[in-house]
Amino acid sequence: MSEINQDLEQLKACLERQRQLKNPGVILPKRDPAKELAAIRLELGDCQRCQLHKTRNQLVFGAGDPNADLMFVGEAPGGDEDRVGEPFVGRAGQLLTKIIAAIGKTREQVYIANILKCRPPGNRNPEVEEIAICSPFLKLQIEIIQPKVICALGTFAAQTMLKTKTPIGKLRGRGHPYNESCLLVPTFHPAYLLRSPSKKRETWEDMQMIMELINSA
Ligand code: URA
Repeated sequence: MSEINQDLEQLKACLERQRQLKNPGVILPKRDPAKELAAIRLELGDCQRCQLHKTRNQLVFGAGDPNADLMFVGEAPGGDEDRVGEPFVGRAGQLLTKIIAAIGKTREQVYIANILKCRPPGNRNPEVEEIAICSPFLKLQIEIIQPKVICALGTFAAQTMLKTKTPIGKLRGRGHPYNESCLLVPTFHPAYLLRSPSKKRETWEDMQMIMELINSA
């Protein structure tokens, strides 16, 4: 087993131990989420686990505070993200930055990632196999960051993370249990808001609810 794989196995075992250890008397070793995220990024390397590596420019891992209370998850990198190597940097990304500012935060104070780490060619929808291969890495990122709330951006992210086909209009507006310590709040994708600005009001309501959830957790 390579050194990176060993690190990853140790990390997974550590996360599993933390999940199992409910005893408040147990003193856990101090965690270092930034280092743990770096180990996952190393493990991904020049990822060729699915066909998307053939057409992408670069893998878009995720960006922001490894200790963030709030995480945003989108669908997959688009053309701008594929060029820059950061999530949500195009037009939709600029709107997301404004939405984050509206709740009094900066991009550096939250964590932003996607279901897929590589751009589907022509921005087509992600395929089932690509999600199956890539999403365990997002799951590990979430386990490391331990956000209080995940905001799923748009139909695809919300339906994938909640394993449902319910439309986004019915999923949004409330928190859904995601794991034992985190709620998932779906809202509209910023790219959709650019096309349908009248939906910004509902997105604003979702953002206010997210802040209430974070402040009361
Ligand atoms: N749309 C997404 O879902 N993610 C990005 O990173 C950019 C656009």
